[in-house]
Amino acid sequence: MPTTCALCRRTVPVERLDDPGAVQTHHLRPERRETSPTVELCRPCHDQIHALFTNAELRESFDTADALRTADRLADYLDWIRGTDTLRVATRTSDHVRRRRD
Ligand SMILES: [Zn+2]
Ligand SMILES: [Zn+2]
Repeated sequence: MPTTCALCRRTVPVERLDDPGAVQTHHLRPERRETSPTVELCRPCHDQIHALFTNAELRESFDTADALRTADRLADYLDWIRGTDTLRVATRTSDHVRRRRD
């Protein structure tokens, strides 16, 4: 079964699922894994979300696929990724997220 990414809505074809990280499960409420709903995301989207949002932001404000899909911070990324078929991108963690990790 091909898998559709809940964020960019690209379909990852069966033959590319041989790459075990191509599609990843995202917990919509990080650090609440036991009770968190999950969505399936392609690797670039999953990387991008965690590069741009802190776990607290995800948990409090972006805990649905809809909220993520319409987030201003992701708009440029989504415009771009939807025009590609790449499943591997170099993601740079934003200063905003990096600061919270220190
Ligand atoms: Zn995606
Ligand atoms: Zn995640």
